Amino acid sequence: MSPIVDLIDVHKSYGMVEVLKGVTFSVNKGEVAAIIGQSGSGKSTALRCMDRLETIQGGTLEVCGHRLHTPNPDLKALRRDVGIVFQSYNLYPHLTVEENVTLALRLVRRLGKAEARERAADVLKKVGMLEKLTVYPEQLSGGQQQRVAIARGLAMEPELMLFDEVTSALDPQLTGEVLRVMEQLASEGMTMVLVTHEMSFARKVADKVIYMRNGRVHEMGTSEILRSPETKELGEFIAEATDA
Ligand code: ADP
Ligand code: MG
Repeated sequence: MSPIVDLIDVHKSYGMVEVLKGVTFSVNKGEVAAIIGQSGSGKSTALRCMDRLETIQGGTLEVCGHRLHTPNPDLKALRRDVGIVFQSYNLYPHLTVEENVTLALRLVRRLGKAEARERAADVLKKVGMLEKLTVYPEQLSGGQQQRVAIARGLAMEPELMLFDEVTSALDPQLTGEVLRVMEQLASEGMTMVLVTHEMSFARKVADKVIYMRNGRVHEMGTSEILRSPETKELGEFIAEATDA
């Protein structure tokens, strides 16, 4: 079976600056991959390329069977298969929790009102936010908003979920709430790629850990590499991580 995510020698530049300098890794169905590394090492860029928010200049990149290195991949089909959640929650402030989740279901998936509401209730229950259906985002904590953002992604029933430092803006307690939701998703078999600073979380849930450094994969392996890193650089990175 071919991988859900497959990067081979991916190069990406912004102008003259090369940010991804030949990145190769793959993620199989049902796997959780954690991308870790210093700020500026290219983690977010790699993730954004997987949803084709950025185009690549070299190498090949396949996500859910879509060949993203080709000139005109079917972006609508890609976005149906891939959900992405960012550090900032990006909820619509003028819409209730329920409306935030049902909007894309109605507009993109063309679901009827009743069916969209039913699916919204399902995913909001999953993230523990069912009782906040009629509330507006500003009335929620950051952790609650982030769980709604995750529910919104899940509602589309993606094959792959991408998470970019979704807990970085949250205090420890709210971080825990969100990590528990992600851990549950992982245990249900969701294929996930997550950029994270949470080393203990990566150690617990990641099948594959990818340590990026200066636009390259510096070290990669099972979560065991977080316990016994091979390279001096990963060892130092782990030692500096606050929650190690
Ligand atoms: P990370 O997520 O690991 O912190 P990023 O992928 O965000 O790293 O950034 C990698 C490098 O690319 C950084 O040097 C950053 O300044 C640069 N970069 C990111 N986005 C852009 C952009 N839109 N235009 C120019 N440079 C960018
Ligand atoms: Mg980043």
